[in-house]
Amino acid sequence: MNRLYHESEDWVAQGSCRQYDPELFFPVSTTGPGLHDAELAKAICRGCAVRRECLQWALRAGEPHGVWGGTTPEDRRYMRRDLPLPAAS
Ligand code: SF4
Repeated sequence: MNRLYHESEDWVAQGSCRQYDPELFFPVSTTGPGLHDAELAKAICRGCAVRRECLQWALRAGEPHGVWGGTTPEDRRYMRRDLPLPAAS
């Protein structure tokens, strides 16, 4: 995991994203020019051993930015409302 302010979480050291540029996980947007980075970050998360822990943390924390546990902020907003995710574009 590349986000220093979450280093206290036990699962952080096992995050696949530690091997990548942190900016990839904070795309400028999840549409338009940022879409490619967001999709790439989500693909990395799909292979991550601590995806579940990461996503649970992001949902608990109400993390408003970045890709966490394979979800964008928009995905997490849907999840918090218990709504189905929109179809991938
Ligand atoms: S799920 Fe994604 S953001 Fe979370 S630790 Fe794994 S690679 Fe990093």
